[in-house]
Amino acid sequence: MASSGTRVLVVGAGIVGRSVAYFLSRQDIEVVLLDSTKDPSPTSRASLGVLTRFNGGTSSYAHLFRDGYALHARLAADLAAEMGVDVGWRPLGSIELYLNSADEWRLEELLASSRERGCPVDRLDRPALREMEPALAQEVWGGLYFPGDHRVDPSKLGAALWASAVRRGAVAYCGDRVVRIAQRGEGVEIATEQGNHCADFAVLAAGAWSGELAGQLGAQVTVRPVRGQHARFAGCPLQHLIHVDGHYIVPDGDETLVGATVEEVGFDLRTTAAAVANFSARVEEVLGGVLPFLSHRAGLRPKPKNGRPLIGPLQASPRVFVASGHYKNGVLLGPITGQIIARWIAEGVPGRDMSRFAPER
Ligand SMILES: Cc1cc2nc3c(=O)[nH]c(=O)nc-3n(C[C@H](O)[C@H](O)[C@H](O)COP(=O)(O)OP(=O)(O)OC[C@H]3O[C@@H](n4cnc5c(N)ncnc54)[C@H](O)[C@@H]3O)c2cc1C
Repeated sequence: MASSGTRVLVVGAGIVGRSVAYFLSRQDIEVVLLDSTKDPSPTSRASLGVLTRFNGGTSSYAHLFRDGYALHARLAADLAAEMGVDVGWRPLGSIELYLNSADEWRLEELLASSRERGCPVDRLDRPALREMEPALAQEVWGGLYFPGDHRVDPSKLGAALWASAVRRGAVAYCGDRVVRIAQRGEGVEIATEQGNHCADFAVLAAGAWSGELAGQLGAQVTVRPVRGQHARFAGCPLQHLIHVDGHYIVPDGDETLVGATVEEVGFDLRTTAAAVANFSARVEEVLGGVLPFLSHRAGLRPKPKNGRPLIGPLQASPRVFVASGHYKNGVLLGPITGQIIARWIAEGVPGRDMSRFAPER
């Protein structure tokens, strides 16, 4: 249970670290955010910000996913009211696109499984598709419409969460890498390249690097980087999120984002020309024409062991929490992770069963 004047060090200024900082600061807890880069969170900024549909089931992960998804609309409204900013939360809906009739069995399968899980979905034939998205190529054969898919702008959300935390007194040291961490009695000591910080608790929200930091405390937290790239194109002929063959095509203001790759290349953050060529080909296939290429980005998704995010205190160092391993859904799950960690630190309990998310497994 946190007492008045509690201080927490949050390591990592990605979407998860900023969410943790935001919810801690709302509990009147003093927050110090530490990040090794001057321009933090390449991964969170590479994200497409897709908030995917209802994931059926009754497991604790399914509940976390649904609650995390629902939290975004409230958070966007709260940040708009408090900070006067639009974080780009949009209930766009998505279309799962099938390019030719040979894909009919895949469409039927997804339609049946989605309905079985209670997920709202409509089948679209060619004329219905054309009516919803006039810019689609003539050859596109059919699709499924998922009205529950949303989007948020990850960069705007991250900036607004952090600006709100700063208003409540949070401070950040960016461009200063954490090199050592230790729990000392009732507190935590962190050494960075430029100095030392002490606090009552620490939260490791360092994305794919979190396992390495937890290892300094003798904990085995298994998370590895999986690179993802997206490309940005000029022009925005679409009104919905389009999902085709594992790629999203995302309307973003007057631009279009396409992604993402899934690459096992370790901690290599470089972008590649091959990925851009592949994304351009997708755009041409779906729209029947090309869009001018603007830029591309890469990030390292933190992939955990056993698929579930890593959220909770370390066994032998209970004043050090881990908030990582969100893999492909860190933007969707970042805010709810922040909310849970803040409650756990402030009240001594997470407010829900988190046993399946224990970081050491
Ligand atoms: C191309 C792509 C598309 C994606 N699309 C989606 C999507 O549509 N929807 C969705 O929900 N998710 C998506 N994701 C996943 C999502 O982006 C990630 O899950 C999320 O960004 C992870 O956030 P994080 O805060 O855990 O990590 P990060 O954003 O990686 O932040 C970790 C921070 O920790 C810092 N750090 C590391 N080590 C240290 C240290 N020793 N000392 C100090 N600081 C340190 C790093 O500098 C970094 O800033 C996508 C990812 C990619 C790459």
